[in-house]
Amino acid sequence: MQSFDFTGQTALVTGAASGIGRATVELLAVAGARVVAADINQGAVACLAAELADCGLAVEPAVLDVAEPDAWTRLFAGPAAAADLFVLNAGIAHAGDLAGTTLADWREVFAVNCDGVFLGLSHAFASLRRAGRPGRVVVTGSAAARKAQPAAIAYAASKAALESLVRSAAKDGAADGIAVNLVAPGGVKTAIWDSPGFAAMAAEMGGRESAFAAMARAETPLGRFAEAEEVAAAIGFLLSPASAFMTGATLLQDGGYTL
Ligand code: NAD
Repeated sequence: MQSFDFTGQTALVTGAASGIGRATVELLAVAGARVVAADINQGAVACLAAELADCGLAVEPAVLDVAEPDAWTRLFAGPAAAADLFVLNAGIAHAGDLAGTTLADWREVFAVNCDGVFLGLSHAFASLRRAGRPGRVVVTGSAAARKAQPAAIAYAASKAALESLVRSAAKDGAADGIAVNLVAPGGVKTAIWDSPGFAAMAAEMGGRESAFAAMARAETPLGRFAEAEEVAAAIGFLLSPASAFMTGATLLQDGGYTL
């Protein structure tokens, strides 16, 4: 595992209570950052902070619905004001083809996946510019943006929109020393897959690992899904000085899914 040093820095992570967000909180805290761990799931993010506090790690839990503008204002009036590293990671999945996606489904997916990142970028930029500080932002996109997804049209379109948003924001922030990059994972073994269909598949195949392996065999040349910690390591790289000359980039980390 690559080691990072974020001593003296403050990081905000959204979607922090589970999966990629949780692994990123752990990586950043172990690397010395003070972390504001924000999630809509108040209980889960409080548990995460308490667990890490037991290990002597500085993690402050915050309740945030990324689609809710007032919640962002409150967050930046408080613990996020000191942040110079931002991981805009919260997202939801939706399985549905054109016939199986309602306008309400579409709007819900875009509210979380796109409004949430737009609001996060706006607040991060304003906060950094007010303080006259440089900063680094990483957005969690998806390899689903790069390949037709007839069974997940809203999700794939929302993640494709983020690639454009990240490129524009990167050019906007460059003169102020604000870098914005996107990590685009393929399949990752997290709770986002926990639909009734996936549960049935896992029950039939003898467990979640077998179900993930079967999905990977079908479409991922490397033959497996990623661990959340592998994506956290890519995010750590994009937050670190090792990626100092990168902005507006998409780091595709998909085991060859889009090949
Ligand atoms: P996850 O379900 O394990 O974690 C998502 C977290 O986001 C949860 O803690 C959830 O409570 C939180 N969240 C959901 N809606 C929110 C909201 N409105 N406001 C704040 N928090 C909210 O899933 P994950 O796989 O870790 O997903 C993280 C990101 O990675 C998402 O953007 C997802 O689209 C992306 N991604 C995941 C995969 C994968 O295969 N797991 C692949 C590509 C991209």
